[in-house]
Amino acid sequence: MKNIGKGTQCVQGGYTPENGQPRQIPIIQSTTFKYATSEDMGKLFDLEASGYFYSRLQNPTCDTVAAKICELEGGTAAMLTSSGQAASFYAVFNIASCGDHVVSSSTIYGGTYNLFAVTMKRMGIDFTFVDPDCTEEELNAAFRPNTKAVFGETIANPALTVIDIEKFANAAHSHGVPLIIDNTFATPVNCRPFEHGADIITHSTTKYMDGHGAAVGGCIVDSGKFDWTKYPEKFSGLCTPDDSYHGVTYTERFGLEGAFITKATAQLMRDFGSVQSPQSAFMLNLGLESLHVRMKRHCENGLAVAKALEADDRIAWVNYPSLPSNKYYSLAQKYMPNGTCGVVSFGVKGGRRAAEAFMKGLKIAAIETHVADARTCCLHPASATHRQMNDEELAAAGVSPDLVRFSCGLEDAEDLIADIKQALDNI
Ligand SMILES: *Cc1c(COP(=O)(O)O)cnc(C)c1O
Repeated sequence: MKNIGKGTQCVQGGYTPENGQPRQIPIIQSTTFKYATSEDMGKLFDLEASGYFYSRLQNPTCDTVAAKICELEGGTAAMLTSSGQAASFYAVFNIASCGDHVVSSSTIYGGTYNLFAVTMKRMGIDFTFVDPDCTEEELNAAFRPNTKAVFGETIANPALTVIDIEKFANAAHSHGVPLIIDNTFATPVNCRPFEHGADIITHSTTKYMDGHGAAVGGCIVDSGKFDWTKYPEKFSGLCTPDDSYHGVTYTERFGLEGAFITKATAQLMRDFGSVQSPQSAFMLNLGLESLHVRMKRHCENGLAVAKALEADDRIAWVNYPSLPSNKYYSLAQKYMPNGTCGVVSFGVKGGRRAAEAFMKGLKIAAIETHVADARTCCLHPASATHRQMNDEELAAAGVSPDLVRFSCGLEDAEDLIADIKQALDNI
């Protein structure tokens, strides 16, 4: 069926049981798969036939759930990973290696920043971090001859900046490289980055997609639109024979629609093994079945809380991209007209100390590193997730020392607002 709505995709995407098959997706809890002959299995190893042989590479339950996310994003191929971190790492490392360079928005998740600036740097990949609000000239100036990709987050965690996807996509494409977008906070329910020029999408499915704080996971989706074969030298890993798979050339064998994900599975999953377990994928799918319903509620609660904070004179500032007073309101309206996310950040008057005292007084909202959960949770990034950054790096990441990240869950908005008010009363 064509033109199926996102809600229907959330509920039914990726899996259509045949006559007499289970209605819910089967959990294939098996490390391995049986074949009649060694020849049959040899064909799988040479990527000549498709099929399952070992769950470190691929598992049917994980692939079913990846197919649903692929449909939701409007992509051509997708894979699950063990975490969002693994998804970000694989997405970049699949096309950039030692001696290469990547342009990234500076306002990204703290874990991703560390992965890029410290760990991948140690692997010989250089990153240039640019302000997401930079001009086109500044953005273009960040590219080098060895640049292989551009990376950014639709709505940055925790800075809540909204990236101008088209501006970043145009710059990436004019330099012959793909744009990778981490769409964790918006989810495909609120934004579909491929429609605005992004080429690869990553997710921490740990957040809204799972939505219940049950399972860590990640996902990579390919739009199939980036033409690697136009730059065969730059993307030689995709466009020239892979000796570790008997000389398969990914773009030739799997086309533009399958090359990126097949290479990431065949090489990176094989060698690093950051698989999601079938059990976790099953739970992720339960979350996905209600993603469209939950995102609406998260956004309603986010807006109600943001408005209440804005009207309270004990609050120094409020940052929520769906507030008309927000710097990113027009970008948010352009890319996410139906809502952004449930995460609101703000500063309590009195700075770092007041913020910590405020958090201690909360009764419904819990202090957690987690975010984007059914239960409201909050965090003081400067003393937690971003603690290894100095003040300058914090400022570049859009995190001030007084910033409280408040992730509105699915509770009643009036209760969340009352909780905030009583915690402010008790500072
Ligand atoms: C949490 C998060 C990640 C990392 O995901 P994990 O599942 O925790 O590894 C990456 N990007 C964003 C935007 C996140 O919020």
